[in-house]
Amino acid sequence: MAKSGIAVAYKAKKMGLEPFVSEFKKENQINYSQEIRKNFKCEFGGHSEKLLDCDLLIVSPGIPLDIPILKKAKMKNLKFISEIEFGYKIKYPASKIIAITGSNGKSTTVSLIHHILKTAGYKSILAGNIGSAFTSFPIEKPGIEFIVLELSSFQLELIEFFKADVAAILNITPDHLNRYNNFEEYTLAKFNIFNNQTENDLAIFNLDDNICLKYQNTVKSNKKFFSLKNNADIFFNGKNIVHNSRDISVQNLLIKGPHNIANIMASILALSPFHLKIEIINKALRTFSPLPHRLEFVAEVNGIKFINDSKATNTESVKYALQSFPKPIRIIMGGAGKGEDYTVLNPLLKQYAKKIYLVGESRLEMEQAFKSTTDIALFNVFKRAVLAAYSDAEKGDYVVLSPACTSYDMFNNFEERGDRFKAIVHELKK
Ligand code: ADP
Repeated sequence: MAKSGIAVAYKAKKMGLEPFVSEFKKENQINYSQEIRKNFKCEFGGHSEKLLDCDLLIVSPGIPLDIPILKKAKMKNLKFISEIEFGYKIKYPASKIIAITGSNGKSTTVSLIHHILKTAGYKSILAGNIGSAFTSFPIEKPGIEFIVLELSSFQLELIEFFKADVAAILNITPDHLNRYNNFEEYTLAKFNIFNNQTENDLAIFNLDDNICLKYQNTVKSNKKFFSLKNNADIFFNGKNIVHNSRDISVQNLLIKGPHNIANIMASILALSPFHLKIEIINKALRTFSPLPHRLEFVAEVNGIKFINDSKATNTESVKYALQSFPKPIRIIMGGAGKGEDYTVLNPLLKQYAKKIYLVGESRLEMEQAFKSTTDIALFNVFKRAVLAAYSDAEKGDYVVLSPACTSYDMFNNFEERGDRFKAIVHELKK
């Protein structure tokens, strides 16, 4: 009974189906349970065998596919699909789908694509793993020209006929290894994004990403590549982005850093079949603001700058955070781990971290991993870690929250963790 589950239940009801909504959490943990009771047959506190009486199961992305009820459903040959597949089946045929996945950069890229489309005057919606669920929009009706979808590997596990006009994998680095048996399984789930595409559809890959390169041979679509280093369909020459022999300037943009140049290139390629004017793209790039919780500048307190990168929930994104400042940083890390090997950060921590402040469930494991790098301090309470970093800091220092972990041990989501960080900083400022 989270966003996509509720959205698809309402949509199914609207379409004349009879949804039964099943929630693992207890009723008192669901804020809007009254409303759900009023509108649907439902159950709370676990998934009962009543689910096996349904004709089709729509499984929310957080639910592991090996839980007992789904095993039983499989034995009964019940079909299960994702909310994304359901949305695809009912969407108005002429609405085009641009779908983006990857380990990092998805939200930034889909938001930028959506922003460029709106700047060009198109009717575009932004949905999926970001903001609102796909089926929460009137997608069955005409009028939506573009559906820009952010898709996680979980959402891509249960697709069948879903086909994107344009699909991209931005990068693949270890993530969610607590959910998948191995890295290959995670990679293959992401590659489902190209399922059902034909040579008339566009598939976009990162030429700098070895995993993308290794698996792209399996894809039959029209393929295009972006690169920060080498000649590609779109590439960065150290100064400008070059596409179709034309330069696109990335000077004076509000989004910064090489990772964002990669996200910009992926966005421009994704829109290349629709022949937008270069002036429109340039205008949209200049007016696009970075999303909150991604290397977001919070405030300066007594000469100490605070940066909120709460969305950095894996080591790869922290690598970019470490390299994004003019001097070594005081970095706050920790939270609930996802089974990653943290030692991959050690060379960069040695070079770019002044001191590491560890908090949350994974703090001891991280301390072990990082012990050869730099000074480390451990905390039980999130606020204490922030205050300690502030009191250690000297004028000109950067204090960066870039956790490499999810927030679920202490917060409901990364937004809440980032907001808490910002509130502590604003209190300090006062
Ligand atoms: P996602 O939706 O895939 O989690 P976001 O755009 O929300 O991606 O960014 C998540 C984190 O990854 C942030 O810390 C951000 O600075 C970093 N990041 C953004 N784009 C990239 C990229 N292309 N490669 C690596 N890290 C990135």
